[in-house]
Amino acid sequence: MKENWFVPDWLEEAPYAPVFRVRDTLHKYGRYAPQTKVVTVADLIKFHGHLCGGLMEAAVALRAAFNVLFPAGVIDRTDLEIVGNNSACGGDVAAYLTGARVRFGSQVIDLSLEGGEFYVRRVSTGEVVRVRLRDEVYPHEVKAQMRRVLSEERAPTDIDRFGELQWAYARRLCEMPPEDAFLVEKRPDYAWPSPNLTGLGRRSDNDFKAG
Ligand SMILES: [Zn+2]
Repeated sequence: MKENWFVPDWLEEAPYAPVFRVRDTLHKYGRYAPQTKVVTVADLIKFHGHLCGGLMEAAVALRAAFNVLFPAGVIDRTDLEIVGNNSACGGDVAAYLTGARVRFGSQVIDLSLEGGEFYVRRVSTGEVVRVRLRDEVYPHEVKAQMRRVLSEERAPTDIDRFGELQWAYARRLCEMPPEDAFLVEKRPDYAWPSPNLTGLGRRSDNDFKAG
């Protein structure tokens, strides 16, 4: 069995599977690392636990957002804040890819947002972009099957069917450019919401990144 058994063949061959080149610091209080890292969907799966529609939806959404916020291509994970809903899956991707965390107030949960909808702020420039799924890409078939799984009529095969539909949706998302799946707009007027958690302290390990 291959080591990455959790990565399906179609994902390895997908033309637009999102990839992220990120920059972090070298150590706590350390300066920016001179080199970058590559984060793949396989890395996201390891963190989140499984491949699902929400994981791919968030990954492609953020790929589209980063294309605007970091036109040079390298994503600075010390320089981002994000607002999204409380998706079990998309919220993990948001934290991993941005470096933002609910416990530091840099990842904010807004229950009024839709799945796949995020506001992303590049702190050093103040730029804010909003991404959201285009209506024509909305996975109606996944949502209908999810309602069936959550209903009294659920049969065991319905859970398998749900998994198949989620993966089909994830596959569809990485067979087109991210901007074809998501609307991206700059939102300088956006009123950034207050953190969900306060009083726990702020992130400090990047304080001397440029020192
Ligand atoms: Zn998931």
